Amino acid sequence: MPSRADLHSHSTFSDGRLTPTELIDLAYRNGVRLMALTDHDITDGLPEAFEAAARHEDFTLIPGIEMSTDIPGNEVHILGHFIDWQDADFQRELEHLQDSRVGRARGMVEKLIELGKPVSWERVQAIAGDGAVGRPHIALALVEAGHVSTVNEAFDLYISRNGPAYVEREKMTPPEVVQMLLAVGGLATLAHPRDLGHLEELLAELKEAGLTGMEVYYQDYGPEEVERLRRLAEKFGLLPLGGSDFHGLGGPQQRAPGDIPLPWEPVQRLLDLAQERDALKRTQYARPGR
Ligand code: AMP
Ligand code: ZN
Ligand code: FE
Ligand code: FE
Repeated sequence: MPSRADLHSHSTFSDGRLTPTELIDLAYRNGVRLMALTDHDITDGLPEAFEAAARHEDFTLIPGIEMSTDIPGNEVHILGHFIDWQDADFQRELEHLQDSRVGRARGMVEKLIELGKPVSWERVQAIAGDGAVGRPHIALALVEAGHVSTVNEAFDLYISRNGPAYVEREKMTPPEVVQMLLAVGGLATLAHPRDLGHLEELLAELKEAGLTGMEVYYQDYGPEEVERLRRLAEKFGLLPLGGSDFHGLGGPQQRAPGDIPLPWEPVQRLLDLAQERDALKRTQYARPGR
């Protein structure tokens, strides 16, 4: 049974393969009625997503984002939901992050050339389109060039965090991002926490910074993993949330939109919190200049 809610998904505006419209229509067909578009460090897909959502009478879109942050030795992703994404200062910060993504992707292309696995920057750019360029685009260029046969293999051999073509990029710290999301009226959730080291310390620090939730229901997390994370969320007073993190890139870990056992109860509590903070109104698209 798919969940009625899916709080984590990507479109062509970052490294997803479906446009916001295709993504929302697929989610709708799967039975999802409440969904967040959470592209990496970018909100440019939201206008299209709101238009697509409005075509379904009983469908609600939460404006969201997934921000990349850095701790020593690891990358931490934080989701923001119900954000006032049109805030000018917020958009300026996002533009800065986009620029740093481009510089870093070019660096990875150069390293691949040095490794004798050349891909062209033009191809990576073309694959990324207008959206935020990311490693999955480089992975697709590697597949296209015949250097690897799958996206996962591209990560495993070259561009995972410890891979020979990996390049760091400028990121903020997790508490800085939580504060940035709160500053635009959002609710912050720690994404895919399973493989993070020192998780309890991180949760303590982020709870203090204003974190609301933690992903517990996610992709291929099994029942035992879910139970462990659910207890941890409870211990730190966090809502046990989740999503498919659908990218449309395939691979064994992929789940379709809504294909996660996320119960409605914590989602309702998230909605109640959003209501308390007068953030539910942001599920309606306020066009600029109105
Ligand atoms: P970036 O933001 O450019 O660092 O890219 C991060 C994205 O790459 C993640 O959100 C995932 O979608 C994808 N990713 C990271 N590691 C892997 C992996 N091992 N296999 C496939 N995709 C991955
Ligand atoms: Zn991604
Ligand atoms: Fe992520
Ligand atoms: Fe994601």
